[in-house]
Amino acid sequence: MKTMTCKQLGGACDLEFHADTFEEMATQSKEHGMEMFQKGEEEHLKAMNQMQELMKSPDAVTNWFNAKRKEFESLPDKE
Ligand SMILES: [Zn+2]
Repeated sequence: MKTMTCKQLGGACDLEFHADTFEEMATQSKEHGMEMFQKGEEEHLKAMNQMQELMKSPDAVTNWFNAKRKEFESLPDKE
């Protein structure tokens, strides 16, 4: 299990996600993001707008995703 925070994944808070794969991590982060979006949480809305700007460029998204995957892979694996 590895741990990353909402902030590390482009979000806005220090909530921790725990997952064995980066895909799983990304899914948890996305679900949390959607929940915060539905609550209208301001900091997360801001973070989401920034991500949407990034989404306009497929290359930027790929680069961001690859960088985060590397960050995930470099983390210590804890039980
Ligand atoms: Zn968050």
